[in-house]
Amino acid sequence: MSLAVIGATLGAGDRPVGLRAEGDRIVAVGPDVMAEPGDELLDATGTALLPGLVNGHTHAAMTLFRGSGDDLPLMAWLRERIWPAEARLTADDVYWGTRLACTEMIRSGTVRFWDMYWHPDAVARAVRDAGLRAVVGAPLFDGADPDGSGALRADARASLDALESAGPLVGTAFAPHAIYTVSEPSLRWIASESEARGLPVQIHLSETRDEVDDCVAAHGVRPAAYLDRVGLLGPRTVLAHGVWLDDDELALVAARGATVVTNPASNLKLAVGGVFRYPAARAAGVAVGLGTDGAGSNDSLDLLADVKLLALVQKHAAGDPTAMTAAEAWAVATGARAPGLGASGRLAVGEPADLILVRRDAPELAIGDLTADLVYAASGAVVDATVVAGRVLMRGGVVEGAREIVACAAEHARRVNGGASASAS
Ligand SMILES: [Zn+2]
Repeated sequence: MSLAVIGATLGAGDRPVGLRAEGDRIVAVGPDVMAEPGDELLDATGTALLPGLVNGHTHAAMTLFRGSGDDLPLMAWLRERIWPAEARLTADDVYWGTRLACTEMIRSGTVRFWDMYWHPDAVARAVRDAGLRAVVGAPLFDGADPDGSGALRADARASLDALESAGPLVGTAFAPHAIYTVSEPSLRWIASESEARGLPVQIHLSETRDEVDDCVAAHGVRPAAYLDRVGLLGPRTVLAHGVWLDDDELALVAARGATVVTNPASNLKLAVGGVFRYPAARAAGVAVGLGTDGAGSNDSLDLLADVKLLALVQKHAAGDPTAMTAAEAWAVATGARAPGLGASGRLAVGEPADLILVRRDAPELAIGDLTADLVYAASGAVVDATVVAGRVLMRGGVVEGAREIVACAAEHARRVNGGASASAS
């Protein structure tokens, strides 16, 4: 399988280039690169070629709960809407919710995501059928009760077994939900298992101030130090949120080589009251990625919307418009500031053939600096084509089968929400 992308500019470049992929890798890129016999051709005239975006934290199938109970307080939303609906979820529901999420991500230029959700085998199947890349893990809970640790270990093993044949584009991770929902013995077990198996760990950390206060009260140290004490802070660890990490914690996260994924839209919507301290994190040397979080708390999966929020909240929190530049925000969104998420953010020979084409004649991109326009003016609507592992998943703005996927997902959402989503009133 080979692909030739011909006629795009490379980023903001002013002359057309070609890019060839063989299998899932880029084998040539430059002004003299032409299509070769047998190549599938992607005519990229009038577009700019860019690395795809990386969604470092989401719960993809939560698209099923979009628009349901949005403006409730967090606990009421969980107790009245989400938990009863999640109790009704089948693997088939999760499959279609994830297919919907994948369709949205493909349309808005995301090529890779990190997912934490129930029925991970159904998530993996949906990712494979959609053609995206993902790292998938079932959320692990034991109610912070050591007596539940045996059941948690059985759940973890079952989900790893279920993901064994997930295919080359789907990675597996341990996904302990958070330090306040998983007991210390379970966290220590996950640390040793992930080490033995060489698997990444994704966990929510330091999302709310209450989490920090409770951690200090229970363990005598702040969340990052606690995670380090149980052996879970390392180069394969991906921390979602990190809003309240202080200077000592940021230094510790950097020293251990862990990644923080900031989710500005989710933090704003759930009103966590703080902003991830990006300038301090970068100064400390922390690897940082961008995530949407689930559609229950965003509710969009469009990273071209969230990259703007990323830059704006950093500027606003610092009281300094230079606190985050468009180029820096773009680098974060493409994974270039977080090697642990698995993407380099570069289009070069030997890199995975994961790329997007954006229309340079889109009204939002036609004038001014391309990177600034992408960050501050564009939405996912400017994306014309998405390619993952050398396979064209969207061409000319069209994702094959999108209508059927939307219809199936809507039908499943009606069932899990008890009919609530069927009403527009
Ligand atoms: Zn989350």
